[in-house]
Amino acid sequence: MNKTDWVRDFRQGSPVLQEENQFQIPYLTFPILSEIPGIVHGFSTRMGGVSQGDCATMNFSYSRGDKEEAVLENYTRMAKILGTVPEHMVATKQTHTTNVRVVTTEDCGKGVTKPLDYEDVDGLITDVPGICLCAFTADCVPIYFVDPVRKAIGVSHSGWRGTVARMGAVTIAKMQEVYGTNPKDVICAIGPSICRDCYEVSEDVAEAFQRAFCGCEECYKAITAYGQYPMQDGKHTIVEPGKAPGKYQLDLWLANIVVLLQAGVPVEQIQVTDLCTCHNPQYLFSHRASRGKRGNLGAFLMMTQQKD
Ligand SMILES: [Zn+2]
Repeated sequence: MNKTDWVRDFRQGSPVLQEENQFQIPYLTFPILSEIPGIVHGFSTRMGGVSQGDCATMNFSYSRGDKEEAVLENYTRMAKILGTVPEHMVATKQTHTTNVRVVTTEDCGKGVTKPLDYEDVDGLITDVPGICLCAFTADCVPIYFVDPVRKAIGVSHSGWRGTVARMGAVTIAKMQEVYGTNPKDVICAIGPSICRDCYEVSEDVAEAFQRAFCGCEECYKAITAYGQYPMQDGKHTIVEPGKAPGKYQLDLWLANIVVLLQAGVPVEQIQVTDLCTCHNPQYLFSHRASRGKRGNLGAFLMMTQQKD
């Protein structure tokens, strides 16, 4: 596989393909996170795992018809790359809520090597080094959060429901409440997910976004501040008229940028992907491209145990 085979929609913030690692498992990293000392992270592709059929090959979902032992092997491979073990990973239980769980050592292995004992958790935060937080997507938006000052991290799943409910801001607010995080210190990456060109939505979804992202001066200022974002006809818009009547194209990347900026994250501390899952179904799981027959991609984030 050649890196240039990937279809890229956006020239800034390209995740980096790591395929020369000792385990020969291709995965993606974000330069903005790689620069932070003591942070290990990765975003999986659908390559390098052992799952078969619709979940081939690197699937992290136990509930999409895949074999349990295959999923566990996939976690084991990903854990090795990240320098950990599946027993130290903790999974979300995603249902498009804005619930954020404060993860402690007691949660280690939940949803990965042992059963989950919580429901409706779309975000995870922790300040414990050595715990690997895992969130899952296949077109929805994964967001990574690192507070290098208070030494806390988070991952969130932000689909259209999560985005309209400002999951990114909710996650940061929880980090603020629990760890004293100042949003100005937070470094964020918005991971591979569906791009505006691919994401056709109905009128009710478009209206929800028009209400949530009103286009007021504050919204516009936030978007303009993210100067790297491509503009069309001199305008940035989250919802555009669609290609079909009564349909709209929704830009989840831009909406999540606005959410993070308005939560107080400085513009230079946000990196947004240029990779669309739906444009690249041979490399990434896409719910739309596969008509729902797919596995889950994983977003992984961990603080390493640091010697003082
Ligand atoms: Zn696309």
